[in-house]
Amino acid sequence: MNSTFKRIALSEPSLVGNVRNYLEECVATNFVSSVGPFVERFERAFAEFVGTRYAVACATGTAAIHVALRLLDVTPEDEIFVPTLTFIASANPIAYERAQPVFVDSERQTLNLDPAAVVTEIERRARSGEKMPRAVEVVHLLGHPANIDPIVEVCERYGIPIVEDAAEALGATYTAGRFEGKQVGSIGLVGCFSFNGNKILTCGGGGMITTNDEKLARRAKHLTTQARLPGAEYRHDEVGYNYRMTNVAAAIGLAQLECMPDFLARKRAIAARYDAVLQDHPVLTPAVHAPWAHPSFWLYTATARSGGRSTRDRILANLAEVGVEARPIWSPLHTMPMYAKAKRLSDGSIAEELAASSLSLPCSVGLSDEDRERVIAVVKKELT
Ligand SMILES: *Cc1c(COP(=O)(O)O)cnc(C)c1O
Repeated sequence: MNSTFKRIALSEPSLVGNVRNYLEECVATNFVSSVGPFVERFERAFAEFVGTRYAVACATGTAAIHVALRLLDVTPEDEIFVPTLTFIASANPIAYERAQPVFVDSERQTLNLDPAAVVTEIERRARSGEKMPRAVEVVHLLGHPANIDPIVEVCERYGIPIVEDAAEALGATYTAGRFEGKQVGSIGLVGCFSFNGNKILTCGGGGMITTNDEKLARRAKHLTTQARLPGAEYRHDEVGYNYRMTNVAAAIGLAQLECMPDFLARKRAIAARYDAVLQDHPVLTPAVHAPWAHPSFWLYTATARSGGRSTRDRILANLAEVGVEARPIWSPLHTMPMYAKAKRLSDGSIAEELAASSLSLPCSVGLSDEDRERVIAVVKKELT
């Protein structure tokens, strides 16, 4: 990398708004750990933002997914449907519970799990009397809602719960269909969010579990706090975790949540500019955007029209040369050693192809117009 260029990050936090004020309040009140008012304030404001009755804060997005599976009492005999093209944290909690992931290939329209594959397999199992999956984990990748209507329909028919991994998609909304006007994370039995440093909302590290079910919300809080019963005698009624969010993290999270309308507008404006450049680009396609969705564009991910990995890698190298951090997306999970023997609904070749040919361009909410145009200049070089 040439050091004469200013580095442009892929997705970095923007610690604006009330972050400093709220952190000062933590210091002034001495509430920096698990006691203090910010966790509850953040939970209430978050539930209102996403449109669920309850939100339970926890330590990470991975912890949120783990707790979601515990809420379903998943056992080692259970299967969970999960996309193969996702970040590893979507699947690892399934392994924590020694349950069986069943990997679903991608659909090209949204890069998310292929609803047709889910529907076909569940109907096949119904006909042949085979055991149903314990849950379908719907992941909303890169800020684009998954095509969830057909999945909800088949899951309702057979009483299969849906867990949404909305870690990458806070604020993404359905604009048509059964869930028109609803945000990701408010549709399944349980929704999971991440506030890791590169996510649209960060609190250093953190997660959230959303649900409309009061019993589940209570148990989620219980599991994240070592399943400790009320009273001074340290009695616990099941195996829980120390998955608490600290008051300091929640203070940052609440301040960031207040900025979400602005953050979403910025992400969408950056995406619109990239879209305009890539519309007729001979090498790259614009980021996915289904007509029924209002994506958050957490990451702006383009795909090589042809040439696959070599084309993608050439563009990544051109960007790296001038200090621009762009990145491939994840390798499909069925290609990792610990999941190589797991069941798949198909060979996963669409996920492999998308993974090999896609790259994410810088889209921090604080990305300046000047920096954005520097990225675009490199991408435009492909035109000549
Ligand atoms: C970031 C992420 C997670 C996990 O979140 P952490 O807070 O890093 O534990 C889970 N699933 C997906 C799809 C993610 O991108």
